[in-house]
Amino acid sequence: MKLKGLGVSAGVAVGPARVWHNTPLRVPQRSLLLEQIEAELERLDQALAVTRDELRSLTERLRTDVSAEVAAIFEAHAEMLNDPALVDEVQAQIRSLQVNAEHALAEVVGHYTAALRTLEDEYMRQRAADLEDVAQRVLRHLEGRDATHQLETPVIILADDLTPSDTAQFPAGMVLGFATAGGGATSHTAILARALGIPAIVGLGDGVWQAQEGTIVTLDGDTGVLDLAPSAAEIAAFERKQLEQQQRQASERTAAQAPAITADGVRVEVLANIALPGGCSDALRWGAEGIGLFRTEFLFLDRREPPGEEEQYLAYRQVVEHMQGRRVLIRTADIGGDKNIPYLLVEQEPNPFLGWRGSRLLWGMAPLLQTQMRALLRASAHGPLGIMFPMISGLNDLRALRRLLEEVRETLHTERTPVGQPAIGVMIEVPSAALCAEQLARECDFFSIGTNDLAQYTLACDRTNPRVAHLLDPLHPAVLRLIAQTIRAGRAAGIHVGMCGELAADLSAVPILVGLGLQELSVSPASIPAVKRVIGQLTLARAQGIADAALELETAEEVRALAAATLQTLTASPIDEVAHGA
Ligand code: PEP
Ligand code: MG
Repeated sequence: MKLKGLGVSAGVAVGPARVWHNTPLRVPQRSLLLEQIEAELERLDQALAVTRDELRSLTERLRTDVSAEVAAIFEAHAEMLNDPALVDEVQAQIRSLQVNAEHALAEVVGHYTAALRTLEDEYMRQRAADLEDVAQRVLRHLEGRDATHQLETPVIILADDLTPSDTAQFPAGMVLGFATAGGGATSHTAILARALGIPAIVGLGDGVWQAQEGTIVTLDGDTGVLDLAPSAAEIAAFERKQLEQQQRQASERTAAQAPAITADGVRVEVLANIALPGGCSDALRWGAEGIGLFRTEFLFLDRREPPGEEEQYLAYRQVVEHMQGRRVLIRTADIGGDKNIPYLLVEQEPNPFLGWRGSRLLWGMAPLLQTQMRALLRASAHGPLGIMFPMISGLNDLRALRRLLEEVRETLHTERTPVGQPAIGVMIEVPSAALCAEQLARECDFFSIGTNDLAQYTLACDRTNPRVAHLLDPLHPAVLRLIAQTIRAGRAAGIHVGMCGELAADLSAVPILVGLGLQELSVSPASIPAVKRVIGQLTLARAQGIADAALELETAEEVRALAAATLQTLTASPIDEVAHGA
């Protein structure tokens, strides 16, 4: 039985199915005598302290072993435990109802998450899931249960959806793949699986429950197909592919330290996307030639007020210095849309993705941007830095932002504060910006194409809504034409054109993107080796042929088929055969 979902982390896996059921946040209630209450409060305190320690060490481990983006998820969890309102309420329940700490915690958290879920905001729904995840952690400590999941042999995990803790808590090397009934491309399972380099499929639907525990299943993270009953021949083929994949990954990591150059000598820069300055070491370890997107809004998350100028300056300077002269593109805070910052955006908007988001904060929150611009201009004195504006819909936005930047620069000059000469770039992620790329290119130094939003806006599909995830394909001919038009306009104007949306990490799309003339791909650090390998297997002439052919196609399915077939030939054949076919 074959199930089709959304492949969110590339690669294949074959192995026994492990059907994973999330533990419900329900615990038995125990009544306490009055004299037992102090001891119960103490027990709660201890469980909270141990959980905080555990989260701290988990965060540190993930930051060095996996990625800063993943570590940030658990940093946010630790932050939730520091919320005095939450802890006070649990303590109050223990006292007033004279019940055990487990029950009080489950009740309070249940109350909070139910309220968050009524907000119908994806960010808030994600917060609810995060809060439940943290509560489970505390419960485990209260009940003395072991937090690590015991897996004796490598398995493929099948689940409804996985919490970040579940995903990160499986012992290293024991998970061959993840397959979930729910979730979208930007779910935590997807982010974690990609960062860990584990093949994954989400959005498979209830069919996953038909799986028999322990039977061999195959999972293809590239095509999004999970086979619950593969034949012996299919199993053997997947085993071969899995072995090849492991060998390839090992050699790719070594090769990724060199620049990516096509077989006919064209250099394509491969940079890293990071969420926090700590991500730089990770990026360099995986072979990044620079930072193509620093999502600075992460500095604003999970706190009560925005980071000040000095804190931001130090963060940006740290990135610039760590990258030692390599290209660093820092995006001004892309707040709004799915990234709500409750202390800044207090008003609920009916359509946040179409509302006050990204650079549009200029209108109404200019001081926030001015502070960030001061920090960025100061950091630019320490090395190459490009400032990138998100959510630009046309020339007026860009001009207004540039004016503000000039004012900030003037003030810094007057204060005799050293500043550098940062390059100024525009994220092309709104269809109108792609359509006006020619005009925009005359007034900026670089473009970076944000396909996550460009696809969502072009195809009118909310990127956080799993119901429309199957319609949201950045290789849809409409999106592809906008990408092509943007690259053409940028290159004609002589500015640098890169891409930092998820499409850049889609191996099957890389030949088309290189063929269209993209000069830089910025991806999550763990994706760098494979992207560099594909570039090395291409010739520019062949890539151009594929790109031209792709632009002639009529549906996303046809483009996907061409992309998949191209990748197949690259994977199957060494460089010289590919060059032959060009
Ligand atoms: C994008 O939209 O493609 C992008 C890179 O920005 P983000 O995913 O942070 O919105
Ligand atoms: Mg975007």
